[in-house]
Amino acid sequence: MIVTELLKITVLAGVALAGILVVLIWKKNLSTRVTYLRFWVQTISLITIFYIYSVLNQLLFLLLAIFIMTLFVGRFFCGWFCPFGFYMDLITQIRIVLKRRYRKLPVKLNGALNQLRYGLLVFFLSAPLIFSSTSTWLWPYALSLWGPFRPLLVLLSPLEPLVIPWESPLVINSVNISYPYASDFAFYLSENLELIAIFSFIILTVVASLFVRRFWCRFCPTGISLAAINRFKSFNWLPPVHLYKVEEKCTKCGICERVCPVQVTEVYEQKGGKIATSMCLTCLRCVEMCPYDGCLKVNLVGKTLFKSRNWLEPAKTE
Ligand code: SF4
Ligand code: SF4
Ligand code: SF4
Repeated sequence: MIVTELLKITVLAGVALAGILVVLIWKKNLSTRVTYLRFWVQTISLITIFYIYSVLNQLLFLLLAIFIMTLFVGRFFCGWFCPFGFYMDLITQIRIVLKRRYRKLPVKLNGALNQLRYGLLVFFLSAPLIFSSTSTWLWPYALSLWGPFRPLLVLLSPLEPLVIPWESPLVINSVNISYPYASDFAFYLSENLELIAIFSFIILTVVASLFVRRFWCRFCPTGISLAAINRFKSFNWLPPVHLYKVEEKCTKCGICERVCPVQVTEVYEQKGGKIATSMCLTCLRCVEMCPYDGCLKVNLVGKTLFKSRNWLEPAKTE
């Protein structure tokens, strides 16, 4: 009970502080500080999601909220809220401290992985039909993503907190330890295989993330499902948040392409105007790092929220 209250207070205080930071960054155009804001929002999101997982049984609403949010703000969830994305960003910070250069996935492989998303989205959306039987086709199963709806729960796996309030296959000193997809391995595999699969996945994603930024985001069924939703051209008018490039100010320096954690090339390649890409996580790293004043912007319902600043030259004092 006390823990729940503490979680609530922490989340509320964190959201309030994040709001103050947003206003400060917006008013003072501190766009080169967006990464700090993002880390802060990711931390609060991690605590909030732990709280939600502790109290919410009706996980369908959480999944729907993420899907609907994507229609309006693109993959903002991936850039700012996803706990697994946050873990990978933290591993990237370790790599930076270790002064190791990142590696890129081959462009062809990255492109092929991007194309897989449509098949995966169709599979996940049709899975309840494939696995259903008349006895389990019930509303409570749908609400809790169980029974024939269990495959859809995989889409929430990147949100799995590291410590969980329920029984886990990984119990250390009576603490239920978890990791994204651990519950799926435990559900679908036999007891002998589940621990091997969980530890292999942890080692793979941690080590790979030390070399390739947002490694799992290239394969993640949730991310590619969101990217597929993000792709609907007919909804292009709908998302009120989008990236915008002023072509005349772009010098083709290539920084936006280099800093993008998921190798989105459209910001660099496309002519000016609204940038159309479904793989963008809306992390705003490119806006933060573009070294030309007002060349890249993020617009919210037509108004500029943040824009790139000239950080190559020190700001002139009056
Ligand atoms: S792609 Fe998957 S793991 Fe990456 S941020 Fe999005 S939901 Fe999380
Ligand atoms: S970082 Fe800015 S100036 Fe450089 S290529 Fe990208 S959009 Fe153009
Ligand atoms: S294109 Fe820019 S905003 Fe989108 S994921 Fe890459 S760096 Fe982030």
